[in-house]
Amino acid sequence: MPNRAAPLDLLLLPSWLVPVEPAGVVLHDHGLGIRDGRIAFIGPREEALRQTAIDVRELPGMLLSPGLINAHGHAAMTLFRGMADDLPLMTWLEHHIWPAEGRWVDESFVADGTDLAIAEQLQGGITCFSDMYFYPWVACERVNLSGMRAQITVPVLDFEIPGARTTDEALHQGIELFGEMRHHPRISIAFGPHAPYTVNDENLQKIRVLADEMDAAIHMHVHETAFEVQQGLEQTGERPLARLARAGLLGPRFQAVHMTQITDADIALLVEHNCSVVHCPESNLKLASGFCPVERLWQAGVNVAIGTDGAASNNDLDLLGETRTAALLAKAVAGSATALDAHRALRMATLNGARAMGLEEHIGSLELGKAADITAFDLSGLAQQPIYDPVSQLIYASGRHCVRHVWVEGRQLLDDRRLTSLDEVRLHACAVEWGKRIKAPL
Ligand SMILES: [Zn+2]
Repeated sequence: MPNRAAPLDLLLLPSWLVPVEPAGVVLHDHGLGIRDGRIAFIGPREEALRQTAIDVRELPGMLLSPGLINAHGHAAMTLFRGMADDLPLMTWLEHHIWPAEGRWVDESFVADGTDLAIAEQLQGGITCFSDMYFYPWVACERVNLSGMRAQITVPVLDFEIPGARTTDEALHQGIELFGEMRHHPRISIAFGPHAPYTVNDENLQKIRVLADEMDAAIHMHVHETAFEVQQGLEQTGERPLARLARAGLLGPRFQAVHMTQITDADIALLVEHNCSVVHCPESNLKLASGFCPVERLWQAGVNVAIGTDGAASNNDLDLLGETRTAALLAKAVAGSATALDAHRALRMATLNGARAMGLEEHIGSLELGKAADITAFDLSGLAQQPIYDPVSQLIYASGRHCVRHVWVEGRQLLDDRRLTSLDEVRLHACAVEWGKRIKAPL
């Protein structure tokens, strides 16, 4: 039968296609077609070759998966990468990061740092990231120009921050940004109250009212360390998560980042309110913050996504590496080698991230009608041979150097490891320049 549908813009023919939904499936010798930025065809190779397509790409030895979703980070902090290492969280924040932010962070810092983060993430197969940093409108502008996808959160703290003198000013900026980005195809705006210990009850209430009115997500560091929970108990008589529940903040659009300190009562709250948890294993390991019990959460039915956190505490934005760490750590924490298998780990890095951001109808899996946010991993190297299960090979035996191509909404942003929308040479020079300025004595 001749194919009378409009031609595909692009037909991809990889060795393996991992849709993530349905779970655990690997399609061999299948093709994926893109039309108008969306996935318009998935089928066996012979059928794929009968489709009319403007462009056809053979991808031998490559695995096609949904683009990785980095569900937590502070993009512009790439410019503070490696500035203060091997310190506990509060020392790191109070004596190094917050003073450096006060000294250096302005709109040009955020623009350059965000560009660097976007480039690093695209090269690592990430197509969507969540960002919590100052001057969020600058991040929106950089994401818009780059062609990438992001959830930009508006930071809210009880004190003055770069770009907002008061909490009310920050909230007002959030309302404006939400209105401006409401119809943007690749950017969503959420509220980012920093943490229970930096946002008081009155400000939490303001955020709750606004988030309800605007149907916006709330993204917050919660139970990052035992100290935070202990301090919360001493000051309020409640664990921070319980305080957030009482304040009415918890719900399906609440993203609790870190959650290394978890009791059965905490899990019951997360389940009751259908919250997502964003697991940041390498940041938690490096700051010795604790261990998120991913398998217990997963078994309880909590949606667990994964994030790199900022480059100042990780120190890279390598979500594939982070996913491997998560899979290994989950087994150690659960005391079970069956915890977080490779397929579930990939799901955590894709569809669960989409669900956390409320984007699961749009991205996170390779399904007809979804946006063509796709990563091609090259598994043809010696270190990947032989291949019994390509997903196992991807998670346990590959690194982000295996990323060859990346598309966001059908537009190719990484072509054979080359960035198409960002100037790598300029970004490199710019980062070196910032490093010199920041390192120089005052
Ligand atoms: Zn963070």
